[in-house]
Amino acid sequence: MTVAQAVREAAALLADNSDTARLDAELLMAHALGVSRSDLLLRHMHDSPPQQFTALIMRRAAHEPIAQITGCQEFFGRTFIVTPDVLIPRADSESVVQVALDTAPRARRILDCGTGSGALLLTLLAERPDARGIGIDSSPAALEVARANAEALGLSVRAQVLSADWTEGGWAEPLGQFDLVIANPPYVEDSANLSLDVREYEPAQALFSGPEGLDDYRILVPQLPLLLTDSGVVVLEIGATQAAQVSKIAANHGFVATAHKDLAGRDRALVLRLTLG
Ligand code: GLN
Repeated sequence: MTVAQAVREAAALLADNSDTARLDAELLMAHALGVSRSDLLLRHMHDSPPQQFTALIMRRAAHEPIAQITGCQEFFGRTFIVTPDVLIPRADSESVVQVALDTAPRARRILDCGTGSGALLLTLLAERPDARGIGIDSSPAALEVARANAEALGLSVRAQVLSADWTEGGWAEPLGQFDLVIANPPYVEDSANLSLDVREYEPAQALFSGPEGLDDYRILVPQLPLLLTDSGVVVLEIGATQAAQVSKIAANHGFVATAHKDLAGRDRALVLRLTLG
């Protein structure tokens, strides 16, 4: 048996449970061999497959996400450590980061609310060497992942990771003011029919936010004006159908909102600016 054959068989086995079966099999084989996917394809297809490959494929067949099996996920060209305690960084959020980079090119102080793995904050800091930032999260386990990522990316000096819960009062005042506040809060409706990969493996507290998926925006948005400098902006990730509702919540707290689309053409980011007076 060669690696090529083992990958082909594994892809066939995964086809019922994954839309990306062939890619999944390649990524897990690369992980089992300790090589990159391109090295796998260029150099290792005639090797014999490592014994642990089958166990990895069985985990994927049970819907465990690739990022949790391998312990990492690429985001905006960098590798992030991932555990079951954090949302897996998604391509959707890469477009939110791009909106933030374009909207606040000179932001020096950045706050990430609900930082999880730290992917949003740490990407912004990596792209903006003059900026410093704080990531807050209510999950101690997530904070550990964010700290490990800050360390791994060499950003510990500019990134501070703090425990804070926006559903409790008093968290915002000590943090000071920011040029850019970014957040990918939980925004999925409680009744949403998520895929098994997400529902069974990713943290519910990072996903669900009440009957309309709006509970966290309703709690967080009213507290944001306090956290902004005069020219500060907010960039929120939103669900594809939520632009109008979240814009309305924002308008009730003095913001004008502009929606931006992701690469699939769905509304994904909302930029909030305070109206004067
Ligand atoms: N986009 C994610 C999903 O649909 C949800 C992310 C979130 O709730 N912040 O799986």
